[in-house]
Amino acid sequence: MSTNPSDMPITVLGAGPAGLATGLYADRQGMPVRLLEAADAVGGNARTLRLGPFRYDTGAHRFHDKNDEITADVKALLGDDLRRIDAPSQICWRGRRIDFPLAPVDLLRKLPPSLLARISWEQLSIPRVSTDADHFREMAHQSYGPTLADLFLLNYTEKLWGADAERLSPRVAGDRLEGLDLTTFFLEAFGSSKGKARHLDGSFYYPKHGYGQIAEATANALGRDHIRTGTRITSIAHDGTRVEAVTVNETETIDVETVVSTLPLTLVLRLLDPAPPAEIQDLASSIRFRHLRLAVLGLDRPRLTPNASLYFPSRHVPFTRLYEPTNRSPDMAPDDQTVVVLELPCHRDDAAWSRSADTLREEARALLAAQGLTDGDDIVAFDHHTVPFAYPILEVGAEKTAERLGNYLDRFENLHRLGRSANFTYTHVHNLYARAKTLASRLASGERERDRSTAARA
Ligand SMILES: Cc1cc2nc3c(=O)[nH]c(=O)nc-3n(C[C@H](O)[C@H](O)[C@H](O)COP(=O)(O)OP(=O)(O)OC[C@H]3O[C@@H](n4cnc5c(N)ncnc54)[C@H](O)[C@@H]3O)c2cc1C
Repeated sequence: MSTNPSDMPITVLGAGPAGLATGLYADRQGMPVRLLEAADAVGGNARTLRLGPFRYDTGAHRFHDKNDEITADVKALLGDDLRRIDAPSQICWRGRRIDFPLAPVDLLRKLPPSLLARISWEQLSIPRVSTDADHFREMAHQSYGPTLADLFLLNYTEKLWGADAERLSPRVAGDRLEGLDLTTFFLEAFGSSKGKARHLDGSFYYPKHGYGQIAEATANALGRDHIRTGTRITSIAHDGTRVEAVTVNETETIDVETVVSTLPLTLVLRLLDPAPPAEIQDLASSIRFRHLRLAVLGLDRPRLTPNASLYFPSRHVPFTRLYEPTNRSPDMAPDDQTVVVLELPCHRDDAAWSRSADTLREEARALLAAQGLTDGDDIVAFDHHTVPFAYPILEVGAEKTAERLGNYLDRFENLHRLGRSANFTYTHVHNLYARAKTLASRLASGERERDRSTAARA
């Protein structure tokens, strides 16, 4: 039964995970819905792409089994194609492979005694974990001790986010470091399985044909006729309290009633017509997103590593992470071949953003050679890909700024926001599906123009 006050569909801007989930759950609530997507395919930053016979994702993705209801929904969409995977990750450090998450027994075997002594001394001497560190460096030092933090965490974090750790919020790690404090660490060292279970990271769900299969299955379940691809929103017209229409591809104007935007928060503000006050525009230009370039190599060998991901904390290596899709699903490459992807985080004004494909390929090959993985003779395919708006950069104060920008957008009573970039939150796909489900049931129960705060925090 539709509770839509008119026959106008809910208009969803963007068909990444947030837009698709909103569309599907709204459709299941009986509401008419249409999705407008700029790209020629659905899935946003959680897509699977092809390079000849190889498949790879737009960045190393896994489906986190953290919400039973959403896991069940995704299982229902994918059936047996959604598999539980156990693949460990490791850190490349001075020619050694250190298990990630860090494990004391592994460190005991791989770190020199002088470092181990320093780490142990810090464990005994540093104050207990504080929950109110001012910035990421402080939090990392308090939680792990300066030695561990400097060896594996701060260098990696600064490379990933492109900002000094003192400028970054303690929250940039998301739940990646959950349970990775020194107490857990030493519990595990003394054989407690309790410590270990809390930060177990090597087990997750992954679809047979790549992470993007989740988006594809969601789009199929919704019905492709609800989704217009190649449809870029170029302007959002409003009367000060309501969004009235969107312009697509600078030519076509579409009248709208209820709108759910999954576009980056800063982009929505830029597209508003009339434009927001200068103060809001200035605030919007003070928050930033991190972008990624991917170097993709198809290899004529069965496997390169046994890992889900290999991390490179060293500041001398431009890439942050290598992942091998075939260790998530063997169907990502032909038998006896494999594919690896290297992630290179950048700002748009970095030299790395405009580095040529040839240079990227050579940097990727040189890294694999330096790590003793391959001299490059077995590289049979190469591609590169950009992932814009990969991460909202959670600099100190940025979340407050994003909240103020969100408050400004809340004046538009028919505009809802949901998504990672839309809300400037470091969140994951299962959370977006959960928030989309909540939003859809609120819209269905007639709350279209009230109480948007839950969606706004998604
Ligand atoms: C490297 C990396 C690894 C990740 N790993 C994981 C993981 O392991 N597990 C996990 O759950 N999540 C992971 N994520 C996060 C996940 O990819 C995002 O949370 C998710 O893609 C966000 O979905 P979204 O719909 O909010 O935004 P997006 O995926 O960014 O989708 C937004 C959509 O809007 C479209 N759009 C933009 N501008 C316009 C316009 N003007 N008009 C119309 N359409 C427009 C875009 O083309 C896009 O399709 C990872 C992300 C990255 C970058």
